[in-house]
Amino acid sequence: MTPVLRYLFPVILIVFLTCTNPPAAFSFDEPMQSIKTGNITGVYYAAGSAVAKMHNRKLKEYNLRLLAEASEGSIANIQDVAEGAAPFGIAQANALYSAKRGESFWQGEPQDKLRSVLGLYMEDFTIVAAVDAGINSMADLKGKTVNIGELGSMDAIQAIRLFNGLGLDPENDLTITEKPTYEASELLQSGDIDAYFYTVGHPNLSIKEASSGERKIMIVAPERDIVDLFDKKAEYLGTNDIPVDYYADIANKAPIHTLSVKAILFSHADTDEQIVYNIVKEVFENLDLFKRQHPAFANLTPEILSTRLIVPLHPGAERFFKEVGLLR
Ligand code: GLU
Repeated sequence: MTPVLRYLFPVILIVFLTCTNPPAAFSFDEPMQSIKTGNITGVYYAAGSAVAKMHNRKLKEYNLRLLAEASEGSIANIQDVAEGAAPFGIAQANALYSAKRGESFWQGEPQDKLRSVLGLYMEDFTIVAAVDAGINSMADLKGKTVNIGELGSMDAIQAIRLFNGLGLDPENDLTITEKPTYEASELLQSGDIDAYFYTVGHPNLSIKEASSGERKIMIVAPERDIVDLFDKKAEYLGTNDIPVDYYADIANKAPIHTLSVKAILFSHADTDEQIVYNIVKEVFENLDLFKRQHPAFANLTPEILSTRLIVPLHPGAERFFKEVGLLR
């Protein structure tokens, strides 16, 4: 080899390897399975990634790599898992409840193959508004432009339910936009909307982005009677106070009292028993590490992880919960 060639050889080798075999840079040796999550501004994506991380610490032993996959959220995830198009998904407890009973989006078509794996954190019903829009309650949304999320999304379905509960006619009393929620922070900053709805854990990147622009924003607390009304309506709903110190630049000075609902990791009845067992085991046995993956997980307990999961437990999760004495 001439001195020039010897000098250039490593460079030529790298160029050759990257140009001749591009897929090798993106594929893995192990089989892969995905967890359908939400858009990347939310907490589902972080939660799916954290579950995958716990499992993948032993990916050689399990010969499986879990991946968090972005999606349109609860409803799309339930659809994909129910149809066998994905083995795992994350969804709101109220969405799983409707799917199980054949209500709302699943009217007349009860989904009986959904199985729960792990309970996760509480998500909060969140109204983000521009301070200059003068929205201090849900009633103040009258006459405003509000993004409720994509047609058929959980956010949009809930929004319509809430407007009805408030006596606001979605057709005539306000202007509704149905853009994907990941665009909402930008739309708020550009002045295209006055407020948006997002049921999501905190802190999240959507509100971080919305609050870091020129237009000052706040989180609106829903009326107390609305919160109390819905809170008592269903076992899967609760209330929570969104801490303000998560978002340095929002106008709120006190925690925001609002409705909350549990986020649940679920699968199909036919999802492999051993894989489900391994996932539950890795999260449980490394719970302190799991809790450090996102501030929304900070208060997780074995009880939250294993109870009030709406759809029947997957046999893999059941086996683990029995082994550790959480179930008889
Ligand atoms: N709650 C939202 C949904 O059901 C997703 C929130 C998130 O991605 O964190 O679609």
